[in-house]
Formats: sequence, C-alpha cells, structure tokens
Amino acid sequence: MEIKALGCEPLSLRRVFIKDGHTLDVYKKDGGYKSLEKALGMTQDAIIQEVKDSALRGRGGAGFPTGMKWSFVPRDSPKPKYIVCNADESEPGSFKDRYLMEYDPHALIEGMIIAGYTLGSNTGYIYGRGEYRYLLDIMDVAIKEAHDAGILGPKVLGNKNFSFDLHTHTGAGAYICGEETALLSSLEGYRGHPRMKPPFPAIEGLYASPTIVNNVETFTSIPQIIDMGGIKWRDLGTEKSGGTKLWSISGHVKKPGVYELPMGYADMEKFIMQDCGGMLRDDKKLKAVIPGGSSVYIMNAGQILGKNVTLDYEGLVAAGSMLGTGGMMVMDETVDIMESTKNLTEFYKHESCGWCTPCREGTDWLVKIFNRISIGEGRPEDAQLMLDICDNIEGKSFCPLGDAAAWPIQSAIKQFPGDFKKWLFDNTNTNGTQPNV
Ligand code: SF4
Repeated sequence: MEIKALGCEPLSLRRVFIKDGHTLDVYKKDGGYKSLEKALGMTQDAIIQEVKDSALRGRGGAGFPTGMKWSFVPRDSPKPKYIVCNADESEPGSFKDRYLMEYDPHALIEGMIIAGYTLGSNTGYIYGRGEYRYLLDIMDVAIKEAHDAGILGPKVLGNKNFSFDLHTHTGAGAYICGEETALLSSLEGYRGHPRMKPPFPAIEGLYASPTIVNNVETFTSIPQIIDMGGIKWRDLGTEKSGGTKLWSISGHVKKPGVYELPMGYADMEKFIMQDCGGMLRDDKKLKAVIPGGSSVYIMNAGQILGKNVTLDYEGLVAAGSMLGTGGMMVMDETVDIMESTKNLTEFYKHESCGWCTPCREGTDWLVKIFNRISIGEGRPEDAQLMLDICDNIEGKSFCPLGDAAAWPIQSAIKQFPGDFKKWLFDNTNTNGTQPNV
C-alpha cells in the first residue's frame, strides 16, 4: 500500500510520515492546535470567509462548497447546534479517511472544534461505520488526550466563552448511513432511513436542531486553511476546486494506495499509468476506470488516454464522470464489465434501505436480470430493459442511493456495449468463457 503526495507537499498526509504523529505531544510539536488558537482570536464571520475563500468542497462525495454550507446555519437559533463528522466511508473504492483517523486524529478534532466555535456549537459527534470501531478507539484516545489538556471540554484553550465536547458513535455497517440524513437518524437511535430535504440539516438536523455534517477529510482541511489563509490554500488547487485532495486508488495499478494530489493535477492518464507504479499490473492494457467511488459513471480508456483529463471536479465532469469521493478503481483488459457491473448492482440492492419503491424494487429486478444473463439466459432486449428500469430509478428515488445504483449500469452499457452484447447475443464473457449453465 503506497501512501504519498505527488505534485505538492503532503498536507493531509503530513502526519502519516511523522513517527507517533497521532499523539498529542507530536501533533503539538508539529504545530498542531495553533490553527485553533488563531481561530479563537477571529470572528466567526471571518472564519467562514476564509473557508469560502479556500474553495474547499466537501470531500465526502457531493462536493458542496463547505463555506457556503456553514453559512446556512442560523447562528441566532435558540436551539443547540451540532457538528457531526461523517466518518462512515462506505463508498466502494474509498479508503482515505481511515488513514486520516489512524495517523492524524488530532487534525480531525481540531477541525471540528474550529467548526464548533464558528457555528456556535458545543457538541460534536464522529459517526463511523461499525467496521471502523478500531479507528474510533484511536479517536477516543485522542479525544481523551485533548480533553485532559484543556483543548476539549469547558473553556477550550482557556477561552471562557467556548466549550466543546466530542463523542464517537458507531453504526452497524449500513451503506445508507453514509447519506447525511440517514446518518443523523441512526445517530438518534432510529433505523438509518434518509429524511426529506428540505429542511436541510444546517437548519434542522440532529434532534431537529441546526447541524453541520462534513466528511473527515473536509474537517481535517480546516486547520490547514486557517493556518495558511483561505486564498493561499485555494491556490494549491484551482479556482473552483481549492487545495489538495486524497485519492484512494485500487484495482490493477502496480501501486495501489492513498495519494495526495493538488486539485487540477494533470493528468489522469499520467496518474494511473505512471505515478502508480508505471503501466498496469502485468503490463496489461487499461480498459476502464471508475474515478470517484462506485457511485459515478464508469469511463472507458478512450475517455482517458490522450485526453488530458485533470483531476478535479470540473475536469472529471468534462470527461464524462465525476470526482465523487476520489475512490478510483482501475480495471485492465481482462475485466468483463457486465460482470463487474453485476457485482456493483448486487451491492446497491443489498444496501437499498427499502424505504422507497423505485430503488427497492428496481435494484431487485436489476439483480434478477443480471443473474439470468450470467447463467447464459441473456436476451437481446435485456440491455434496453435494464436501461428502462434505471430510468425509473434515477431521479425518482427518495435519496441519492437510487441514482448511484442506476449510473454504473447506464454508463457501463453506453461505454462498453460489446461486453453486454457478448452476453446477450453469444452468451460468452469478455474472455470468451461460457457461463456456468
Ligand atoms: Fe432507501 Fe434506496 Fe429509497 Fe434511498 S433510494 S430511501 S436507499 S430505498
């Protein structure tokens, strides 16, 4: 597993390379909690302006501008306000946040305290998936260290007007709890169903109170922004996609791992074919890439090779996909895209919470069709049938999981029609293998 920064100094990965960087002592010696000190001397409006200037966009997948999200919180609300970290990281292909929590837990704590001070909140929660219990144990140790040092609890760093407490909470491994409103339901002790939006959590979130939900990487970027100033941080990336970004890359590259790149890194082909070990594993040809976790459009090699695709929000949209979480999955020429798409669809069917009909029934029917195709009973009309079902899911489901289930199929059929035709007309896969009938 490779962990490194390319084209920039490590910022988010900085403490990964420092021995015992997860401890309070080492964190403080490395300048930790200086940004909190600085923030406590700033006005809340000034902090929000720095975050807006930074062009930081939420690193959990949606890419919503963080400063704008923070500005939606009604600071004069008489209700308590909450800061919630979405540490669920259940998107297939995404495994960056776990490194931040393991190697740099105090950066997350510092970012959350700054958010609490800015938005007038005294309580924060870190919500992690059940499989991340070991990481929340690390967070609990760091929280205790910070509490004992007067960084958390009453009078944060001696500031008599501001107290902040932080708690960890584990879910039970449901993908849907990575959706912010389902996460809040789960945090309240209810089944993890998504909620209607609006009202958005910034207005009515946890316990019907104003709540900011941000991803781990988003919060850990906040101390960096306060330290160097929003505009300087933004200029590490591009005007619309500020700063640096962590990419978790897996699949058929020679050196999978977590890479920190400046936003706008040029380019995607270089990153996959050179930076991650040089060519693909066994020097096979590139066939497909899912660039941002499974909930984005799959790309074929022709959309990447020789196309100078920049790694930022705008570059990936222009190339026909999305940045998502930055969980990049690379597939070589041996992969059958019908089979890999079937695998993803089984995941979405399993993780559908069952609340709304298009997603619950649609994903079930899609899996039934994939299963029939994979035992050699594909029909020429199956591709259109699946597209029709996707059309009845996309934009017609209650939460984004429905769209996420439809997009891989729609894009796979569009970008890899040959892989589906082989199954539907010849009953063979990409490698000419007959299905088990
Ligand atoms: Fe649940 Fe799927 Fe509907 Fe979302 S789209 S509410 S996951 S059934």
